Amino acid sequence: MKYQLACGDVMPGCAQNFDTDSQDALLGQVGEHAARDHGITEITPEVLAAVSGKIRVSEG
Ligand SMILES: [Zn+2]
Repeated sequence: MKYQLACGDVMPGCAQNFDTDSQDALLGQVGEHAARDHGITEITPEVLAAVSGKIRVSEG
C-alpha cells in the first residue's frame, strides 16, 4: 500500500509531497516537515484529523 499526502491540501501554498509505504512513516515525515517548515511542533488531535482526512491510500 502507498500512503500519499500533498501538504498543500492541508497547508495551502505548500508544495511538499509525501509518498511512503506506511501510515506511520507518512505521519513521521509530515511531523518533521510541519515542525521544520510550518513551525507546528505539536500534532494536536485537530491537526492529526486534518492530515488524516487528506491522506490518499493506493495499492502497490
Ligand atoms: Zn508543508
